[in-house]
Formats: sequence, structure tokens, C-alpha cells
Amino acid sequence: MSDLLAFETDSFPGLELLSTNARNCELTKADALEEFKRLRIEISRLQRVLYAENQQSLLVVFQAMDAGGKDGTIRKVFQGVNPQGVHVASFKRPTQLELEHDFLWRIHPHTPAKGMISVFNRSHYEDVLVPLVESLTTREVIEARYEHIRSFERMLMDHGTKVVKLFLNISNAEQKRRLNERLTNPDKRWKFEPQDLEKRTDWKQYMSAFAVMFEETSTPEAPWHIIPSDDKWYRNLLVARIIFNTLESMSPEYPKPKYDLTNIVIE
Ligand code: ATP
Ligand code: MG
Repeated sequence: MSDLLAFETDSFPGLELLSTNARNCELTKADALEEFKRLRIEISRLQRVLYAENQQSLLVVFQAMDAGGKDGTIRKVFQGVNPQGVHVASFKRPTQLELEHDFLWRIHPHTPAKGMISVFNRSHYEDVLVPLVESLTTREVIEARYEHIRSFERMLMDHGTKVVKLFLNISNAEQKRRLNERLTNPDKRWKFEPQDLEKRTDWKQYMSAFAVMFEETSTPEAPWHIIPSDDKWYRNLLVARIIFNTLESMSPEYPKPKYDLTNIVIE
């Protein structure tokens, strides 16, 4: 069990707290894979309608500790979706230019246009995690950022953007296993970053920073979902379910034809 889940569940409004692994769940892996494939087809169908309708949009935010599986989840869940309708933005350590602006400056250009899905691989939430743990700024600045984030997301929602926030929750032991894999598997070595080890030593502080962040930024319209992510197949299924349910609740519809088509004959 990760440290994060040691916190009381009812102190985070709007959160779905689940165990970090799938060992206790009834679902078999084979059933999960089957359901996942069905959901993926449904997601790509709904995305086509969303695109055609051109009225609403979806923003999916992924946060996780290093090796938490953001890349793999995005690759698996959005496989098969028309790339024209999806924009993936990965947010790395801010550049000097980005640091000279407000923290949302680099984020806003990547929010989805009508009809589009934007996927954030890390996000504006890094700015209430890293600077807090590394003491790069004051508490007051971080407090103000929670408020800015709430307002920012409210503005996006007012514009017709549904915001889905997903935290891929891996245990400390699973992170160790995955980082070791990056050291030993030749195909994964390129992913290894010494800074991941520094962050790993701050695991507890990160878990606390996440917990406060969930509390401050979970809203009824855009709650944080904590995804048990030690088992990839289980993680993928939960993420696909949430994205499918969200798209379905948006009820996108194909628009009516712009012209009267009844008497048109193609010679
Ligand atoms: P992977 O899981 O494949 O390693 P990644 O998302 O960790 O992918 P990296 O290039 O390894 O990508 O790391 C990005 C780094 O940038 C992370 O350590 C992250 O915490 C950091 N970062 C992103 N945004 C900010 C921010 N606003 N302030 C400080 N650090 C940030
Ligand atoms: Mg990394």
C-alpha cells in the first residue's frame, strides 16, 4: 500500500480512493482486457462524434510519480483514436522563458479547442508539487496557485471543456522495480534520469504534497481520481472506464447537415 493511501479517505472530497493493486478485486485479467478493448472502440467512436459536433471538448490530466506509467497509459488508452482529434502535451521542467511568465502561460495554449481532446502528460499541477517539495517558492505562492488552478479549470469548464484529472498511484516498491528495469533493460535505459532517484528520496514529501493538492483542487465537477496503478492492465481499464463515462456523459451528437440534402443527386 502506498503512503498516500495511509491518509484518511474522507479528508479528500470528491476522491475515489482504491487499493493500489488489483489483487483483491474480483475481476480477472482476461475479463479486464476484453472490457478494455471494447471501451477503446467506444472511446474512438465517441471521439468521432465529439469532433463532428465541434461544441465541447475534453481535457485529460495525468499526474504520477516517475515511472508511474503516464506514457504507457496514454499510448494504450488512446490507441485507435483519430490522431487529428487528439493533442498530447508533455510538460517538462520549465525553461528560463517559461519561468519568466506566470505558471499557466505555457499550459493555456494546449487546452483543447472545441471538438478536441487534449491529454496532459504532467501539467500545471507540477507547479504545486515540485516547488513545494524542493522549497523553490513560498507557501503563499503555492496557496495562491491552488486558487488560480481552480479558477483556470472553472473557466475552461465554462467554455465547454470537461476536465478529467487522473493520478496514477504506484507504490514505492513498484517504483523501485520499474526504475531498476530502466537500469537493466537495454530498451528502457534511455528513460533513466538520475533526478528520478532524488525525487524518490523525497517520496514522503511528494505524497504529502499530492494529498494537499487533491484536497485543494478536487471539485465536484472535476474531482481527482486516484488510479491504482501497480498492475498495468487494471490501471488501463479504470482509466478507459473514466474516459468512456465522461465522453458518454457529454452526449455529443453529429450536427444536422448545413444544407437541405433531400434533392441532391450526385451525377
Ligand atoms: P518518464 O516517466 O518517461 O520519465 P517524465 O514525465 O518523467 O517521463 P522527464 O523528461 O523524465 O519526463 O521529466 C520531466 C521532469 O520535469 C519531471 O521531473 C517533472 O517533475 C519536471 N517538471 C515538469 N513540470 C515542472 C514544473 N512546472 N516545475 C518543476 N519541474 C517540473
Ligand atoms: Mg522521468
